[in-house]
Amino acid sequence: MRLTYLLKSLADLFSPACCPVCGCHLNDGEKGLCLQCHLEMPRLRFSADGKMPEVEQLFTGCQIVTHAVSCFAYSRQSRYAEILKDLKYHHAPQAALHLARGFAEELKKRGYFDGVDEIIPVPLHRSKLKKRGYNQSLLIAQVLAEVAQIPVGEGLKAIKPHATQTAKDTEERHRNVGDVFRASRMEGRHVLLVDDVITTGATLTACCDALQAAGAASVKIVSLAFAGALNY
Ligand SMILES: [Zn+2]
Repeated sequence: MRLTYLLKSLADLFSPACCPVCGCHLNDGEKGLCLQCHLEMPRLRFSADGKMPEVEQLFTGCQIVTHAVSCFAYSRQSRYAEILKDLKYHHAPQAALHLARGFAEELKKRGYFDGVDEIIPVPLHRSKLKKRGYNQSLLIAQVLAEVAQIPVGEGLKAIKPHATQTAKDTEERHRNVGDVFRASRMEGRHVLLVDDVITTGATLTACCDALQAAGAASVKIVSLAFAGALNY
């Protein structure tokens, strides 16, 4: 895993970076994605009150969640799915983190980070962390933390491994993650919870339940991509 990462880093030094969406070489000044793919990206829009109802509606059963937003709409068939694959499986988070930074700056302007005490990534169980080598949600959380000037918290743990979400129906997914997470030292804390992709919301809901059980006062959710939107 580490060798792959090293080789990729070396390759990046000697060859120009490519847009993960269309494969073209990036020009000077283009970061993460080429300009065209940036412009055509299926961004999710904020409503007039600064919210994203289509994301939030997944968490209506979660009293502790006050807001939930995502940067762009995603489906596994979409060419933009490459950004997530690079982040998650290929040790190539550049495009995802560039988008995360831009989204974080937009959220900061909108006051989304106001009142937040700590930024917490959806944790990976240690067995998965060992296999993958890093937690992709932590990478996004670190970018948000840098922009927002709010610390990353480590009070949420995955105490059991849980199966990949993609191959299960909604009810099964909720059962699958029901008692996976545990939080500590959250009394009165206002938390910003970070994930790479929201699909059914089951994983994040389980995290919110754990945060609430540990005494957290509120949760705002941020993800890079949202798989629940139609027409993408
Ligand atoms: Zn492109």
